[in-house]
Amino acid sequence: MIITKTCRICENEYPLNETFWPIRKKNSKDGFRGECRKCARKMSNEYRIQRKERLGKDFKSWREKHPEKAKESGGKYYQKNKERLLLENKKRYEKNKDRYLAQIKEYRKKNKSERAKRNREW
Ligand SMILES: [Zn+2]
Repeated sequence: MIITKTCRICENEYPLNETFWPIRKKNSKDGFRGECRKCARKMSNEYRIQRKERLGKDFKSWREKHPEKAKESGGKYYQKNKERLLLENKKRYEKNKDRYLAQIKEYRKKNKSERAKRNREW
C-alpha cells in the first residue's frame, strides 16, 4: 500500500515521498510539508514577487506620506555640509590644480595615442 498525502493547496493526492513533497525539518508529523512540491514552489515564487512589490510600495507610500523626511534622509548630510564640502573641494582643487591638470593632459595624451594605435591596427 502506498501512503499518500493530500496537498492543502491544490488538494491533489500524491505518494508520500520526497519526489512530491518538500521535507520539513521540524514541527511536522510525517516529516513533510503540507503543500506539495508544485504548490510550495509556486508559493515561494509568489511570496518573492509579493515581497518585492510590497517593499517597493512601502517605500513609495512612505515617501509620499513623508516627502520632507525622504528628502531629508537623502540629502541631509549634503545639505548640512554643503558649504563646507564645496569649500573643501575648492581648496583641494586649488592645492592640487597643477597635478590635476597634468593628469588630465596625460590622460588625454594617452587616450589619443591609444586611439591612434587602435585605428592603425584596424
Ligand atoms: Zn499542491
